[in-house]
Amino acid sequence: MYFYQKSVEETLVELKSSRHGISLEEARRRLAENGPNELQEKKRKPLIAMFLEQFSDFMILVLLAAAVISGLIGEFSDTVAIMVIVVLNAALGFTQEYRAEKAMEALKNMAAVRAAVLRDGVPLVIPASELVPGDLVLIDAGMVVPADLRVLESVRLTVEEAALTGEAAPMEKNIDRLPDAALPLGDRKNMLYKGTFATYGRGRGIVTATGMNTELGRIATMIQAGEEAKTPLQKRLAHFGQHIAIAILFICAAIFFMGLLRGESAVNIFLVAVSLAVAAIPEALPAVVTIALALGARKMVNRNALVRKLPAVEALGSVTYICTDKTGTLTLNKMTVEELFVDGALLRNEKSNNLSNLQSLFFTALALSNDASKDNKGHCLGDPTEAALLTAAHERGFEKQVLERIHPRVAEVPFDSARKLMTTIHDRAGSGGQDSGSSLKGNYVSFTKGALEALLETTDKLLTSEGPKPVDRESILLIHDRMAAEGLRVIGIAMRVWDRIPDANPPIVESNLTLLGLAGMLDPPREEAKQAVAECRAAGITPVMITGDHPLTARVIARRVGILEVDDPGAVITGKELEAMPRDEFEQRVESIRVYARVAPEQKLKIVRALQDKGHFVAMTGDGVNDAPALKRADIGVAMGITGTDVAKEASSMILLDDNFATIVKAVREGRKIYDNIRKVVKYLLSSNSGEIWTLCLAPFLGLPIPLQPIHILWINLVTDGLPALALSLEPEEGDVMNRPPRSPQESIFARGLGGYTVWVGLLMAVVTLSVQAWAIHIGDAHWQTMVFTTLCLLELGNVMAIRSERESLFTQGILSNKALLFTVGATIALQLMTVYVPALNPVFRTQPLSAFELLIAFVLSSIVFFSVELEKLIQRLQKTA
Ligand code: ATP
Repeated sequence: MYFYQKSVEETLVELKSSRHGISLEEARRRLAENGPNELQEKKRKPLIAMFLEQFSDFMILVLLAAAVISGLIGEFSDTVAIMVIVVLNAALGFTQEYRAEKAMEALKNMAAVRAAVLRDGVPLVIPASELVPGDLVLIDAGMVVPADLRVLESVRLTVEEAALTGEAAPMEKNIDRLPDAALPLGDRKNMLYKGTFATYGRGRGIVTATGMNTELGRIATMIQAGEEAKTPLQKRLAHFGQHIAIAILFICAAIFFMGLLRGESAVNIFLVAVSLAVAAIPEALPAVVTIALALGARKMVNRNALVRKLPAVEALGSVTYICTDKTGTLTLNKMTVEELFVDGALLRNEKSNNLSNLQSLFFTALALSNDASKDNKGHCLGDPTEAALLTAAHERGFEKQVLERIHPRVAEVPFDSARKLMTTIHDRAGSGGQDSGSSLKGNYVSFTKGALEALLETTDKLLTSEGPKPVDRESILLIHDRMAAEGLRVIGIAMRVWDRIPDANPPIVESNLTLLGLAGMLDPPREEAKQAVAECRAAGITPVMITGDHPLTARVIARRVGILEVDDPGAVITGKELEAMPRDEFEQRVESIRVYARVAPEQKLKIVRALQDKGHFVAMTGDGVNDAPALKRADIGVAMGITGTDVAKEASSMILLDDNFATIVKAVREGRKIYDNIRKVVKYLLSSNSGEIWTLCLAPFLGLPIPLQPIHILWINLVTDGLPALALSLEPEEGDVMNRPPRSPQESIFARGLGGYTVWVGLLMAVVTLSVQAWAIHIGDAHWQTMVFTTLCLLELGNVMAIRSERESLFTQGILSNKALLFTVGATIALQLMTVYVPALNPVFRTQPLSAFELLIAFVLSSIVFFSVELEKLIQRLQKTA
C-alpha cells in the first residue's frame, strides 16, 4: 500500500512518528540507518587523477619525450632538470586547482537547502540532508520540498510539481486519503515530493522517503548535474589560447629549421623549440581565471555575498543597474508602529490606559489577525510588519495568546503580495458572539488587513463609536497620505461578522468589510545605504528601488537614501502605470525611472527586459517565489539570504547573507578588483611570453647564436613567470575601482591597451636581452649566456612591478602594498642567483658565476622595462589631466 492510500494516523503509526515529530535521539539513529537525504552526485575526480591531468597537455608530453631522448643520447642532466621542472609545474597547477575546488565546495555547502522540522515538538531548522523518514516538516510558500512527504496539514498549501510531472499549474494539497491504488504522481493530492516547491499557503508533512528513495531520486540518473557554466572570459581565453597555440607552434618550427640550417645540434635546437612552445603557449590561462574567480568568491563570503554561480563574480564588474527591493535591503526591516488612526483620531503610538471600546477592538484585531508570535524571552518571531503590529497590541495588554483562546482562529487566507491583503477568521463563541468594541453580532468574525487602496476596494463602512457608517474614501486616503508622506508603511484593518464560517476565498471573505483603522509603521533606512548609493553613482551604476509599498512611502525612503536625487515626479511610477504602459513607451522612459512602487513581483521581469533591451547589465534582487523569473533573467540575480525563499535562492546567482543593499555594492567592488587582477595576470604572462618569443626569434636574424638553453626557458616559465603571477592575483584594489564606469561585458581581453602592451613590452625585453648578448659576445665575454638568462629573468620581475597598477605609478601605490608580490620577487631573485652562484647547480642550469660587474650590468639594464612602463603610465596620466 502506498502512503497516499493511508490515512494520516495510519501513516504516523507506520512511520513510528507523531504530530510532535520524532525525538532527536531517534532522528540520529534513523540518519545512521538511512543515510543522508541527498541525491548521489557524479563521483568526484580522485586526487591522483587531478594530479595526472596536469601532465595530459600535449606539449608537456612532447617535452617529456624530448627529455627521454636527451637521456638516451647521454644528456642526463637535461633529462633530470626537465623532469624536475615538469613535476614542479604539475604540483603548482594541482595545488591551485585543488584550492579552487575546495573553495567552490565550501560555497556549495553554504548555499545548501535547509528544512524546518519539529523534533520532540520543538521547531528546528536543520540542513535538508539530515532529514529522516518520520520527520515532521513545516512547509511555507517559497520553500523547496526537501523530501517526499505525506501531508498532515494544509492551509491552502499549493505546490508546483513541474520538475516531476511536467505540469506547470500549481496544485492545492489536502490531507484526505486516496484509496485508488494506481494514481499517477500528479494526482496524489496528499503527497509532496522532493524537488517541487510551495507557491502558496503553508502546511506540514511527514517524511516518507529521503535521498535516492524519493521519486526525484528514482529519476536522478536522468538529471545528471550539468557542467559548470563557463564565464565569458574563460571562453574568450580558451578560444584565444587555441589560436595563439597554432601561431607559436609555427614559430617554434621556424626556430627549429633555422637552427638546423645554421648547423646547430639537432637535439638541442629541438629541445629549445619544444621548451619555447611549452613556455609560450598560454594553455593555463582559463585555469588562471577559474582559480582567481573561485578564490575571489570564497573571499566574498566574508563580506556576506555568497556566490552560487562562478560567472557572477566576473559579471559583477559590468553591472550598470542595480534594481533593489526596499524592505530589509535599503531599510533595516525593523518596523515599529508610529502612528494610528482609529475612532476618528490620528494619534502617536503612545501607551495610554484609557482606551475607548473601539480602540480596544482595533488592538484586538491587530493581535488576532497576526502570524507573528512571541517566544518565551519576549522576542517577536515572524514577518517584521506583523511583528510591529503584534508589539503595538501587546504593549497595551492585548496578548495574542490570551485572545486566541477566546477567539480561536478557524480559517484564514494567507497574505500574498499580489492581493496585498490577508484575512483570518475567528470563532466568537468565547465572547458570546460579540466583542467589546462593536455592536455587530455574529458567531464568527473575520479580520482583513493590508494595503489601504486594496482594502478600500472591499470596504464600504467605517466603524465609529456610534456604529458603522458609510466610509468616506477621500478623507481616509488623505489621512493615509499624510502618514505615508512621513515615510510610514500604512496598513489598514477591517472586519466583518458572520453567522457561519465563510468560505476562505478572497472574493467571498474579503467583501463588504467595515474599516476599523490604520496603523503607520516606520522602517528606518540602513545607515550604510546612503553611502552605498553614492558609491554606485560614482561607479557609473544606477540604483533603482522596486517595492510593494505605497509610492509616497517609497518616495520618502528613496529620497533619504539618495536613490531619488531631485523630486522629479516622472522618476516614480506605480505598478498600475507600468501595467498600462506599452512596451515602447516604457523603454523610452525606463532610464529615467528610479522608483517603482506598488509593484507586483511579476512586473520585475518587464523592468529587467526593458533595461536589457536598452543595453544595460542588470543586477536584480528578490526574495519570493514570484521573483524567480526576474532573478533568472537578470544578468545577476541576487536573492535575500535571511528573508529569501528557497525558490528565489535557487534562481539566483548570488545570495546576500545579510539582505543588505550595501553588500551588493561591496560585491561589485570585489568583482571589479578580481577582474582587474585577472587582467594583470594575463598581461604579465602574455607580455613575458612575448619577450621570450621575440628574443629567440630575432636572434638568428641578428646573426646571434641561440640565446637560451631549454632549461633556461623552462625555468623562466615556471619560476620567473609562475610565482609572481600567483602573487599578482592578490593585488589590493586600485584607488579608482569605484570611480570609473562599468566594464562592457563584451570587452575583449586585449581591450584597453593589453594587446599593444604585450607586443611592445615583449619587443623591448628582446631588444635589451639581445643587446646584452651582442655586447657580451662582442667583448668576448664567456659568460654571455648566463648574462642573457639573468637579464631576461630580471626584466620580467621589473615588468611585474610595473604591471601592479594600470594607471598609478608604483611609487604612489606603495611598494609595500602587495607584500606577497614583493616576497616572491625577492625569492625569485634569490633563486636566480642560486642558479648562477651555487656550484652544484651550474652544470644543471648550464650557467657560470658572473662577476660583480656583469651582474651589475644585468641589474641596471633589466630596469629598462620597468622605467619604460612607468613612463608610459605617466604620459597617460598627463594626457588625462590635460
Ligand atoms: P519591498 O518590495 O520593498 O521589499 P515588500 O516586499 O515588503 O516591500 P510586500 O510584502 O509585497 O512588499 O508588501 C506590499 C504591501 O502589502 C505593503 O506595503 C503593505 O501595505 C502590505 N502588507 C505587507 N505585509 C503585510 C501583512 N503581513 N499583512 C497585511 N498586509 C501586508
